[in-house]
Amino acid sequence: MKEELRDRYNAVHEAIVQAARTSGRSVSDIALLCVTKFHPISVIFDLLALGHRLFGENYVQEAREKSRQLEEAGFDGSSLFHLIGALQRKKASQVVGNFAMVHSVDSQALALALEKACVQKACTQAILLEVNVGDEAQKAGVNPKDAQALAELIQGQCPHLDLQGLMCLPPVFDAGEAARPYFASLRTLRDELATHTGLPLPVLSMGMSGDFIQAIEEGATIVRIGTAIVGPRPVRAV
Ligand SMILES: *Cc1c(COP(=O)(O)O)cnc(C)c1O
Repeated sequence: MKEELRDRYNAVHEAIVQAARTSGRSVSDIALLCVTKFHPISVIFDLLALGHRLFGENYVQEAREKSRQLEEAGFDGSSLFHLIGALQRKKASQVVGNFAMVHSVDSQALALALEKACVQKACTQAILLEVNVGDEAQKAGVNPKDAQALAELIQGQCPHLDLQGLMCLPPVFDAGEAARPYFASLRTLRDELATHTGLPLPVLSMGMSGDFIQAIEEGATIVRIGTAIVGPRPVRAV
């Protein structure tokens, strides 16, 4: 298993290097977030042993438990994890200060809850706005037309939130080229928001196992890759 993991990890890394090269980008501008949701802590320890230091988790409880186990082993848990899954407002206080970045801020209410939790904990929190690029009714994410108002609210009323950019989950996945227009639209939206707010917004979190090459070609600075590295997800296990 360990060798298989190492081979997959190296293959993904090589594919990222290639995609950066063909799109004229520097590989140091692209961070690989290994998505480990539902996988046991042993997988994270194996990836740490390979030198990897950045993990994506979807569920607050699961991530906090894994972080606790890493801290027992001497790692700085909160610097290793990004929260990429939907976040309920009531969990804001369990999140701020415990994740290097939160990718899923998609409403004014959630932004204000995170801000309040930061004030209580006297910390700041790096965040991304999750954008519903496919304008899908049931999907998480702020509608593209409402993104500017949300960014302005954060800029004006949330001094403890460090808005660094945008994240998306396109309506198609494992479909490579079909996702490309959505990645391009997220980049365009980022450029517009940066112009309107004056914030640099350097981060674009986009691309998963089936479409990270296209995402890099369209400007991704964080790719979130699970299956291609750690294999199929167990149904549910921590
Ligand atoms: C699970 C998940 C991923 C990883 O997906 P893979 O297809 O396994 O690479 C990336 N981003 C989000 C938001 C996820 O929930």
